Order: sequence, then structure tokens, then C-alpha cells
Amino acid sequence: MSPISSHQHIVVIGAGIIGIQCALELQTRGFSVSVVDSKEPGTATSEGNAGCIAVAEIFPISLPGLIWSVPKMLADPLGPLSIRWGYLPQLSPWLWQFLLAGRRRPSEKITGELAALLGHSWSDHQVVAKRTGTEYLFKHEGFLFAYHTERGYKESAHEWSVRTQHGISYTRLTRNELLELEPELNPGFFAGVHVPGVRHSINPKKLVQELALEFKRNGGAILKANAKDFGFRDGRISQVFLDNGQTVETKGVVLAAGAWSGTISSKLGYKVPLDTERGYNTTIPSPAVSVTRPIFLVERSAVITPMEMGLRIGGAVELAGLKAPANFSRAKALLSHGKSALPRLNLENGREWMGFRPSMPDSKPIISRSGHHPNVYFAFGHGHLGLTLAATTARLIGDMSSTDLTPTEAIPFSIERFV
Ligand SMILES: Cc1cc2nc3c(=O)[nH]c(=O)nc-3n(C[C@H](O)[C@H](O)[C@H](O)COP(=O)(O)OP(=O)(O)OC[C@H]3O[C@@H](n4cnc5c(N)ncnc54)[C@H](O)[C@@H]3O)c2cc1C
Repeated sequence: MSPISSHQHIVVIGAGIIGIQCALELQTRGFSVSVVDSKEPGTATSEGNAGCIAVAEIFPISLPGLIWSVPKMLADPLGPLSIRWGYLPQLSPWLWQFLLAGRRRPSEKITGELAALLGHSWSDHQVVAKRTGTEYLFKHEGFLFAYHTERGYKESAHEWSVRTQHGISYTRLTRNELLELEPELNPGFFAGVHVPGVRHSINPKKLVQELALEFKRNGGAILKANAKDFGFRDGRISQVFLDNGQTVETKGVVLAAGAWSGTISSKLGYKVPLDTERGYNTTIPSPAVSVTRPIFLVERSAVITPMEMGLRIGGAVELAGLKAPANFSRAKALLSHGKSALPRLNLENGREWMGFRPSMPDSKPIISRSGHHPNVYFAFGHGHLGLTLAATTARLIGDMSSTDLTPTEAIPFSIERFV
């Protein structure tokens, strides 16, 4: 017997891309579903990301040797990585586990696990996109890695051979071939690599909104409040207490509150090392240049994505927690990398944005059933890959809630790895 019978009521906490995909999936499996969130769907981290279905991003963020490049990265406050020093005491346990994950053996294992999960990411999105009529929000133009220097290009050789081992196809490009694909690029680039299998969303916020509308059309409810606590009966979750005073009776809960899932997990019996890698970008409505596909400026850690709202340029990582105010000089620094990559870029009227990637120290999401309560599920911590893995996460959560079994694919992503 499954832990929750179909047609029973289940609450999804969080209306980002992960929560809404989970809600839709559970609905198609016959559950009656309510989503709770005080914010409108898709208006937190899922709003402003770079839109890539990043199937080639199989590596954890912490890798062997990273520790030696950290001092150089930190020396530049607007570089690819920054830490707010006041936040360091709070961050230390996460940082320690992050460094441990970056040792050779663990990082190779994580790479294999992420590659296996990422292998399904587009096919899972495609199923949902077809069913919901949202295919028009995706483009299939591949993804371009652009290298400024011969050194950067040569240093990436190992990375590319690992991608080959994991079945990711790509084409190496000379400078001329790179410029043929993207003629607006600065001719000063050394070389590039094109990954043809990558799709991108031309409007990640609209994607969540459209999926949320479909969810409502199918009878789903979205309650505008935050979950703050839970009630339990006979070892099972039975109530969700909202911060507007409402109590929702339920037969199950999926926690998908992105970077804010830590405190709620502790109310469900788990202390997880979730933190946030904050990222910045600017969306330029009239860029005056045309770019066909997302371009990663490798040495600058900046991504340029063509979207229906204009050109979005940003990326990088800031470790500063959930409360520190945004430092938009980081967005400006990333934008200046964009301008040097696309010399004719018009910078006017750019809209700056910061988002909170929900990051586990081992760069693996938590896609898991609770070991404490059989009707509680976790779907958070997707870091740099939340859009990419949303439909796959939802399918796995759907499988877990409809049967007693944990799908083999989900085993490496269990919450129990932190117990
Ligand atoms: C600059 C940048 C670029 C990125 N580019 C990419 C990319 O190209 N591809 C990719 O795959 N990923 C990318 N990401 C990562 C991706 O955006 C995230 O992994 C993803 O959006 C996380 O989705 P989520 O639903 O978990 O979180 P969110 O979208 O943050 O949603 C969480 C929701 O939970 C709600 N919530 C919080 N607390 C509660 C509570 N107590 N009760 C109810 N609701 C609550 C919040 O209000 C929020 O709406 C990028 C991120 C950044 C910052």
C-alpha cells in the first residue's frame, strides 16, 4: 500500500519551479493538492535564473583543487566568488562539508550521480511541457562555452573528457567557428565548445506562472500564506499551520521551499546543511545585439542568455546568507563582462536582480521521503540546477508518494545522507 492513497489531500510548501512541478505531478497522479506560499508563484529564485536546462553541468561546485584558487577569487570582491566575512561563523559548518565534498573520490561519485539524474532532465520537462502547452517557452539552440584564453581552454580538457565518459556530446570550436555561431562575440576570444543538447527557457518566471495556472485549472488550490509548523498523528503528518492562522488538514506534505527550507526541515526532524549561493544578473530589454543561444564566459563565470524579455547577463556566487542586503555592484561587474564579450551591447534600462540558490554543500538536491514520517517528502537544495531538475524531481516525488518504494535514481539524493 502506498503511504498516501490517491485522491487524498497533499500540501506542497513553496511555489517556485520545484513546488509547482511537484504539485502538477501529484495532481496528474490523482491527488488533491494545495500549494502554500505567501509569494506569487515563480517570484523568488525561479524568477530570474539563467533559464538553462543545464544537462552538461554534471560537476559539483566543490572540486579538487578549488581550495587553492579560492584566495585569488576572494581577492576580487566582485569576482566569481565572494563571502561576506560577517557571515563566516554561520557558514563554517556548510563550508567545511563543501570542502570535504570537493575531495577527488567524493566529487567523482557526485559527478556520476548528478550526470545520471541530469540525463533525464529534458525528457521529463518535455512530458510536462507537452501536457501543459508550455513548449513554446523553451528553445533548442545548445549552449556555448566561450574561452578567453588558451590557458583556460587547455585547463578545461579534463572536464570535457569526463563529460564524454558521461555521454554528453559537444563540438570544439576554433575562434572562427565560435564567431560564426555567435557573430556579435568579441573576436578576442580564443576558442569555444558547443553543447548541442542544451535547451533554454526564454522566460523562467512565465514558465512557473503558466504551470501554476494549469494546476489551478485542474482544480488545485494555491493558499497565500507561509507554512510555519505542523501537527502529527500516529507518527504521520496530519496538519500544516499557516502564518495567517489557518490550519490545513492533510494526508501528506512535500517541502519545496527552496533556500528557506532549512528552518522548516528542523520542524520535521531534520537539521540539514542548507545554505544559499546568491547570484546576480541584469536583464537588458533592448540589447541591440542578437545572441542565439546561452553563452558561458568561462573565465568570468558569467552566463548570457537570450530571453523574450531581452538579454540576461549574470551568474557568480556570493556566500552571504538569506538576510544580508543585495550588493548590486556584483550585477554591474557581471554586466561589464557581458559588455566586453559583446562590444556592441546597449546597456540601457537593465533590470538588476539577485536570487538565492538553495545549495547543499555536496551540490546534490534532496529528493527524498522522510525517515521519520512516511507521508513527508523533501524536494529542495537544487543549487545551480533547480530549473533543470524540476520535472525530474517532481516525477521522483510522484513515484515515492504513489508507492512504498524509493526509485533507485533517487537513492543518492536522500535526506538521510546528512543524519
Ligand atoms: C543567477 C542565477 C542563475 C541561475 N541559473 C540557472 C539555470 O540556468 N538553470 C537552472 O537549472 N537553475 C538555475 N539557477 C538555480 C535555480 O534558479 C534554482 O535552483 C531554482 O529556482 C530553485 O527553485 P525552488 O522552487 O527550489 O526555489 P524558489 O524559486 O526560491 O521557490 C521557493 C518558494 O518557497 C517559498 N517559501 C519559503 N518559505 C516558505 C514557507 N515557510 N511556506 C511556504 N512557502 C515558503 C518562497 O516564497 C518561494 O516562493 C540559477 C540561480 C541563480 C540565482
